[in-house]
Amino acid sequence: MSQRTYDLEHLCQGACMNSYRRKVRTYEHAYAAYQTAHHNWRNDIAAWHAPMMWPTEPAEPAEPRLPYPVPGSPVYCSDCGYALKSKLSKLDGAACVYLRESDGLRGQSGEAKVSGSEESRSPSPTIDDLDDLDSWLRSWKAAYLGIDSLSRQGSLSDSISLGTAWLVVRAERILANPDIARYFGSEVEEWHAKLIRYDPSDVVVERLKGVRCPECKSFTLQRRVGDDKVTCGTPKCDRVLTLVEYRDLLEEVKKPRRVA
Ligand SMILES: [Zn+2]
Ligand SMILES: [Zn+2]
Repeated sequence: MSQRTYDLEHLCQGACMNSYRRKVRTYEHAYAAYQTAHHNWRNDIAAWHAPMMWPTEPAEPAEPRLPYPVPGSPVYCSDCGYALKSKLSKLDGAACVYLRESDGLRGQSGEAKVSGSEESRSPSPTIDDLDDLDSWLRSWKAAYLGIDSLSRQGSLSDSISLGTAWLVVRAERILANPDIARYFGSEVEEWHAKLIRYDPSDVVVERLKGVRCPECKSFTLQRRVGDDKVTCGTPKCDRVLTLVEYRDLLEEVKKPRRVA
């Protein structure tokens, strides 16, 4: 028997074939380890003499049990293409929540930074992230239109909304182009992964450490990102706090203890 090879190149490059690719890679690694072990075994046999134990031959790894391969058309299958388009369309809403979260926590303005001025980079990592998102959206629009660059129109959040909507409409065409689909797809994945916890349409629960539930005294407070209420995660404890109440409690905890 020899190593079986698999064609990963023509598979859908999306998430549907992740387990396929992972199993093939695991098999390839196992096979490489087997070949080394087998080589060593042959050396051991050549050097064998009584009364040494006869070396055991290493076993060849079994071929992986793979899911049915889904080809890319040309790069992603239609399900994964649809999923990418949907992820792209969620970036706008997630960016809004992200901005609101950081405003609420730090009292900073969404328009603190002027586009294109490197020196005046805002100290807020949120604005920097969203600025990067906006640049990314604009660079794809420019690439699509075949021009060098596009400057920002309007405010940061408006520009993100417009840029996202513009690309969503053209996502299928971009994904149908084998030269760029993969770059586009993986960058959409990256942005989505970065902003997913702010996506208001996905239930993302943030565990709030640092403050005990006023009712059951456990560190089980949690909040859906974007919500302004905090709930207790202890079964049977239905305590609900407003975000403001929670922040007040957090302030209390952070205060240095006064010596009585
Ligand atoms: Zn797929
Ligand atoms: Zn509780």
